[in-house]
Amino acid sequence: MTVQDFSKSAALFEQAQQLIPGGVNSPVRAYRSVDMEPPFIQRAEGSRVYDVDGNTYIDYVGSWGPMILGHAHPQVVAAVQGAAASGCSFGAPTELEVQLAQRIVDAFPAMEMVRMVNSGTEATMSAIRLARGYTGRDRIIKFSGCYHGHGDSLLVKAGSGAMTFGVPDSPGVPADLAKYTLTLPFNDLNAVRQALEEHPGQIACVILEPAVGNMGLVKPDDGFLEGLRQVTREHDTLLIFDEVMTGFRVDYGGMQTLYNIDPDLTTLGKVIGGGLPVGAYGGKREIVEHMSPVGPIYQAGTLSGNPLAMTAGLTTLDILRADSPYKVLGERAAHMMEETAKAAREANVPVYTTSIGSMFTVFFSDKPVRNFEDASACDIPAFRRYFSAMLQAGIYIAPSQYEAGFLSIAHTDEDIETTLRAGAEALKSLS
Ligand code: PMP
Repeated sequence: MTVQDFSKSAALFEQAQQLIPGGVNSPVRAYRSVDMEPPFIQRAEGSRVYDVDGNTYIDYVGSWGPMILGHAHPQVVAAVQGAAASGCSFGAPTELEVQLAQRIVDAFPAMEMVRMVNSGTEATMSAIRLARGYTGRDRIIKFSGCYHGHGDSLLVKAGSGAMTFGVPDSPGVPADLAKYTLTLPFNDLNAVRQALEEHPGQIACVILEPAVGNMGLVKPDDGFLEGLRQVTREHDTLLIFDEVMTGFRVDYGGMQTLYNIDPDLTTLGKVIGGGLPVGAYGGKREIVEHMSPVGPIYQAGTLSGNPLAMTAGLTTLDILRADSPYKVLGERAAHMMEETAKAAREANVPVYTTSIGSMFTVFFSDKPVRNFEDASACDIPAFRRYFSAMLQAGIYIAPSQYEAGFLSIAHTDEDIETTLRAGAEALKSLS
């Protein structure tokens, strides 16, 4: 499966760059962090993606998380085709929305009500607005290395010095807004306690990825999630689990089910749309009923609850509920990471590997990664060389050290063995 020809992709990228900023509709796709140019994908099926030059890859990006059933799952394809024939959008209530809402509420005990939106970004933006509107407080706490989409209040990084105001992480985000966002180190419960004490009655919510997928996979330390639940309750601050990536992915009921935590609000995306654009936010009835048109907090969407997206999501969740592949996926991801760590030891390349459910990461680090500071210390040149060798060998992983890998139910034992062999060769080439 060696990849040789990229000429059609190169020509398309050239043209794309004239028309679309950086040639892409989402920055990480441009392959800048690995100093390469991206293959343009033509189609995908099962565990494979196929590019315009005729190269085939075993895919561990999975559209950045949604494709837990693999690509073009026949049941999902048929369901979406059927829905399209009945009309693509009505901007009116449908039974499909009620069915998907019911599936979500059944799977996530902490979500008594849910509202559909069109992306993870919209879900977190709306959840933050709800938390602020409900509590009457403006400040929020988030953690470095967690990504919650590109809403203004969330594109904020820590200012210099401990406990200072947040500063914009992008031009265009007003400093006056950014100062309401405090950014703390992940897995540091004392920092959260201190921030809540220093701003009594001012923090609307604490938002986090309960297992972080956006600095590579970083798991919560023992007691971190439980501790957050406790301190936020003590301060009447809402706890928001951003399970856009982990929901229906690490387990059917996400991290909150795995760890038995009861957050006030939850955001979802990715898997619940089965590859079509969907996000959702929800939580306790008493809080969510503050949303318009029941309550005064406004949020809306022309295409929200879109019938094609609802159908793809419903079909995906029904297959996941019936098959319950989570244990097997978890064992396979753990096996891949153990074997990769072994190959790295043999090649004398320092790596730290980790997995939870079907999410995994190989960090080029000589120590465990618990937060963004640890992730930032990784050997990025080594990652780039590994990435390039894997792509050449037909293994499609995310072009950044700070992204998780995703297994699907379509990956076969043979796919995994092929991947491990390519991985061992790639690691050998680094030493
Ligand atoms: N939250 C998390 C945890 C995410 O991983 C992402 C996307 N990677 C988002 C929010 C934003 O979702 P979207 O890209 O659909 O806007």
